[in-house]
Amino acid sequence: MKDRLSLFIMIDACGWEIVRDRPFLSELAPHRRKLESVFGYSSTCVPSILSGHWPDEHYNWCYFVYDPKNSPFRPLRMLRWLPTFITSRRIARRVLTKFVKRSLGFRGYFDLYNIPFKYIHLFDFTEKKSPLKPEGMNRGTNIFDTLEAANVPYYVTDTLQPEEEHLRALKADIESERIDFAFQYWAGLDGLLHMVGNDSPEIPLKLDHYEKWIGEVMDLAKKHYKHVDLHVFSDHGMANCDVLLDLRAKVDELGLKFGVDYAVVYDSTMARFWFLKPGAREKIEALLDSVPEGRTMPKEELQQYRAYFDGGEFGELIWLAEEGTLIVPSHMGERPIRAMHGYHPTDPQSYATLFSNTDQVPDEVTHIPHICKLMENAVSEHAKNK
Ligand SMILES: [Zn+2]
Repeated sequence: MKDRLSLFIMIDACGWEIVRDRPFLSELAPHRRKLESVFGYSSTCVPSILSGHWPDEHYNWCYFVYDPKNSPFRPLRMLRWLPTFITSRRIARRVLTKFVKRSLGFRGYFDLYNIPFKYIHLFDFTEKKSPLKPEGMNRGTNIFDTLEAANVPYYVTDTLQPEEEHLRALKADIESERIDFAFQYWAGLDGLLHMVGNDSPEIPLKLDHYEKWIGEVMDLAKKHYKHVDLHVFSDHGMANCDVLLDLRAKVDELGLKFGVDYAVVYDSTMARFWFLKPGAREKIEALLDSVPEGRTMPKEELQQYRAYFDGGEFGELIWLAEEGTLIVPSHMGERPIRAMHGYHPTDPQSYATLFSNTDQVPDEVTHIPHICKLMENAVSEHAKNK
């Protein structure tokens, strides 16, 4: 029997509003609080949790950026001759994604999404390493660097495997008493919410499922460890999308040339612009001001939310949709989805959660990067007691 196990379980998109009125984990982890998330998608929320740093520190923000000089995608340009009925198909994209990821040696999450092959040579992809591994951050360190340096044995999810396998692998590590620390990452709820929305009857069923799994893990852990610290949390919430906005059609009407006058990445809730010729900025700004479904984020506000980048690396202008508006088609998807995240951190559905089996979580833990402090404290306790 070992002394202590620190269990950190992330349920992607398990937002505060989704669990607020449900008894989720009320017995296993009764101390719950609402956490403010970080401005951006999982591509920035997860690295912020793992590093304890903010986007303007770790530079893991949005996936695609305009950067023709450093684009690794030039060879893909020849695919622009393929007919759209093939290249816009999800299945064809998935096969190509796998091929590209392997040939470019990307270690993190990678998806070609819906970036047109005609323009793909203008873009770079910013997550070439995996934030779920040591030395996986674009800048600075993460909790896995800390674990390695302290020589604390740990479990971390292999996201290429299905969720059932994550459960099996974690249980095996607990049973063999190999580990002192675990970071489990379950993404299934996020995928389901995107498909069915946050008020579907399928959501409580999925939550029940996770509750059962966490119960099984805790029962097993208590047989092998005297103390088990459990923290279950999310990276963001999820908003239903009831308004669809074809922002690209509006921008195209300006008659500016993509890659000559300007460049843009249409994420699902954000549009990030770069201006390449004089005059383009004024035209695009004026157009965006006339679109009521969102607004251009002021520099001060981006700074306040720690997502302002001096060099305009992720866009020289960031336009953000109102909660519930989905940009579609976008570079993330050709067709609508039921729900999305990546709205303003203070929009109602954006808030994340933290459930703990201890009431010793400091009051200063108010934002998702603060979860890393809890993990760091756990690691230093383990290192001390060796
Ligand atoms: Zn998601």
